[in-house]
Amino acid sequence: MSVQQPCVLLVEDESAQREVLTYNLEAEGFRVAAAETGDEAMLLVAEENPDLMVLDWMLPNVSGIEICRRVKADPETRHIPIIMLSARSDEGDRVRGLETGADDYVVKPYSVVELMARVRTQLRRTRPTTMGERLSFQDIILDSGEHRVFRSGKSLHLGPTEFRLLSTLMERPGRVWTREQLLDRVWGRDIYVDTRTIDVHVGRLRKALMAYGGDNPVRTVRGTGYALG
Ligand code: CA
Repeated sequence: MSVQQPCVLLVEDESAQREVLTYNLEAEGFRVAAAETGDEAMLLVAEENPDLMVLDWMLPNVSGIEICRRVKADPETRHIPIIMLSARSDEGDRVRGLETGADDYVVKPYSVVELMARVRTQLRRTRPTTMGERLSFQDIILDSGEHRVFRSGKSLHLGPTEFRLLSTLMERPGRVWTREQLLDRVWGRDIYVDTRTIDVHVGRLRKALMAYGGDNPVRTVRGTGYALG
């Protein structure tokens, strides 16, 4: 399993709906974490660090709206796009859903095809390299669909780990990543890797990026980690 595979957290209390959506999301190539209740959802947000949430409005106990509010109020999780599902078609409810910070809103009964399209739209925005997009930073181009990297028009040779590392850095140029965050993204949470391993791979990435000249684009942030630019 590729650790670049986006994780979708599905929160839906109706089992038939949960099964249909899990099946379709997996068919799209996503890893699915499913929760039946709001409490379970909050645990999975912390454990799985999902790339996107599909969240039912009507849940027992803690409502979808409350979950949405909590996720969007926490600086650690507010970047996670949320697509709300609701049986309510009233315009006022739709506005209320979006006001709580939901990124999109789909009314039940929805078309699965349309929901999948909306999931892809959100992920193209937030996790472009997992969706086969082409990214650029200064004279560096990363084509995640073709799995190739170019600098000043020259094709570079990167190992798979260096490629994932560069993909992560290029999704948010300027952002400072801690070594732990990079480990999560590049190796995944389930694998134990010493944080020093990151330094070794950053060294290899720099060497590959500078193979035909050019400045070192990967900045070391003392005591923290790394950033691109
Ligand atoms: Ca429900």
